[in-house]
Parts: sequence; structure tokens; C-alpha cells
Amino acid sequence: MLKTNTYGLSQEGGNVKTGGNYAASIKAHTTSQKKGYTQVLWLDAVERKYIEEVGTSNIFFVINDELVTPPLGGTILPGITRNTVLQLAADWGIPTSERRITIDEVRAAAQDGSLTEAFGSGTAAVISPIGEFGYQGETIMINNGETGPLAQRFFDGIQQLQRGAAPDSHDWIVRVK
Ligand SMILES: *Cc1c(COP(=O)(O)O)cnc(C)c1O
Repeated sequence: MLKTNTYGLSQEGGNVKTGGNYAASIKAHTTSQKKGYTQVLWLDAVERKYIEEVGTSNIFFVINDELVTPPLGGTILPGITRNTVLQLAADWGIPTSERRITIDEVRAAAQDGSLTEAFGSGTAAVISPIGEFGYQGETIMINNGETGPLAQRFFDGIQQLQRGAAPDSHDWIVRVK
């Protein structure tokens, strides 16, 4: 379960895995850890309000039963796991939206109950549920800090694919000689 702290920084070239991107993120990470958070929630560098990624994962929200994730646009890494989640959602008939989402929308949706889940996606942890956001001294709780049903479903579904326990209908599995 992730506890994330918001931080406005991301630079051109954020869409590739390079050491330079990580160097720029260390200070934010250290600051967040001192406050008791495990991950940094990245906001856009220009307006500092649009959500980009969480730590070294892409981010998803469930709002009004729709899966929402920020669009790729140069500053966001096009994660393989992000792609996988979007494809599985399509397979499972879950509505998805790749659109810009602000931290204020997240806060309002958490307050009115329409935001039911948030999670990160990345190769290392596959799916990481987010229990709370810290923003400007405020705590935004998600699903009472518990893993939500969709995060669990994606985690189980992707693990089953990786283990060959679910049919690989998209030819994702490659035999290594
Ligand atoms: C690795 C990484 C991701 C996730 O990508 P995957 O291909 O799913 O592992 C997302 N954002 C950043 C910044 C990353 O470094």
C-alpha cells in the first residue's frame, strides 16, 4: 500500500528511462520519506496541478467506475504495465479514459465518494494500491486505505498471464531461446 506525497516536478525527456530523470527525483523522494510517505506523486512542472506519475510507476484512478489515467505526452513514461492494464480493461469491458486529471479533481472526487481506487503500475510491483495522498498538508484517503477490487483484479490477472495460468490472447508471452 502506497502513501504518496505530491511534488511538482517533471521534465522534458520524462518519457524514457534515464539516470538523469531519477537524479532529479531524489530530493523530492527524501523530503517525502521524512514526512512518512513511501512514494512521490508527480505533478506537471508548468502548472503543478496535473498528475503525471507516482514514483517510478504510471498512475490509475477509478472514478465513477471508470478507469482514468493521464495521457502520454512526452513527460510520462509509456509503461508496459500501463499498456497491459488498459488492454485488460478493454478485454474486461471496463470503461477507460486517458485524460488530464488535476490533484484538485482527485481531492473533490475523494470527498464526494466518486473516487473509489487509485493505484500505480510498473514492472517491479505490477500493481501498487495507493491508500492516501498528502497534498499541501492535507491527507486524501482512498478506499479507507485498503486495496480496491479493480487493483486486486489487475494484479491477479497480470500475474496469471505472467505465470501462463491465463490465456495469452494478445501474444504477450515470448519464448526465450
Ligand atoms: C519504469 C517506469 C514506469 C513503469 O513502466 P513499466 O514499463 O510498466 O515498468 C513508469 N514511470 C517511470 C518514471 C518509470 O521509470
